[in-house]
Amino acid sequence: MQTTTTSTKTDLKALSKKELTHFCEELGLQSFRADQIFQWLYQKGVSNFDEMTNLSKDLREKLHDIATINRIKPVQQQESKDGTIKFLFKLNDPEKDYKVEAVLIPDFFADGVARRLTVCVSSQVGCVFGCSFCATGKMGLFRNLTHGEIVDQVQYINDLAEEKYGKKITNIVYMGMGEPLHNYKAIVNSAHIITDPLSIDLSPKRVTVSTVGLTKQIKQLADDQEEFNLAISLHAPTDEKRDKIMPINASMNLESLEEAVKYYYKATERPITYEYLLFDNFNDSKQDARDLAKIVKWVPSKVNIIMYNNVAGVELKRAREERLDDFMRELIRNDVRATVRRSRGDDIDAGCGQLAIREGGEKGK
Ligand code: SF4
Repeated sequence: MQTTTTSTKTDLKALSKKELTHFCEELGLQSFRADQIFQWLYQKGVSNFDEMTNLSKDLREKLHDIATINRIKPVQQQESKDGTIKFLFKLNDPEKDYKVEAVLIPDFFADGVARRLTVCVSSQVGCVFGCSFCATGKMGLFRNLTHGEIVDQVQYINDLAEEKYGKKITNIVYMGMGEPLHNYKAIVNSAHIITDPLSIDLSPKRVTVSTVGLTKQIKQLADDQEEFNLAISLHAPTDEKRDKIMPINASMNLESLEEAVKYYYKATERPITYEYLLFDNFNDSKQDARDLAKIVKWVPSKVNIIMYNNVAGVELKRAREERLDDFMRELIRNDVRATVRRSRGDDIDAGCGQLAIREGGEKGK
């Protein structure tokens, strides 16, 4: 059971649904009370027991004495010309200035109505994996987020989406700060909460968890029969190139990734998405495209080619448009399903970790 509170009170948002039910049972409450409290926490988003109006006054007072509802606080918001909104949240650690980011990425129909509202959430404060192109990787890891802190990001942005666009969010991607599968239990718990009918009720098929390729956890997702989509941040098509930009490749190389991916597909029959940042003169040649095609054929898969948001102090730069065209043609020639993802929010520090670093999210980074 994860908790961030320093008081002796139980933080209800650090409890999974099962743990919340157990907590209520211990208070001698009937099981529907746990559902009511869950709904107040995750559908109505209250921060105060007094707002739980279908609970008796005595029960509200009792909860007030023994429990808390911790929520992270939005402290900054930047909106891009393309509609992307980046949020900075402050966590509640005493004497620490931990901050994490989340992003709302809207897609619009021609008439300006929102078609898709995707939320990208953070799973850790910083990250231990040190990918050379990533702003978050420069911080080191400070701590995992609790599932409650992950759900808070989604809930806050969902409320804003309903107000701004008149509809709830449509997709969630775990691709913000941190390596999601390095915080396995919290990301799985948070996804279960977000997809619960008594919460935001998003379909698990609209949840995507990304990883740099933690093979043990990829297999764990398969064993646990989780219904989310899996995206692998590949970014280089050979061990030689991956070693240069992603330290994880030293212990989990492409051969071990292939084994994990095949294990995952055999157990779930769910296709994989590969994320591939295109860097100028590093991984954008026709040979790179052919090497990538071999990986994409391990199991049924597709590739998102992402145009990199340049990060200050990082040598790798965004690929040129003409190289992108040749790269895409070579992928198509090799029967690869590939989509180009244009950078969003270029004008607002939208690369993962950029805003938190600029705002000194944790002193001493
Ligand atoms: Fe960590 Fe992901 Fe950044 Fe790599 S890309 S350093 S895994 S947050």
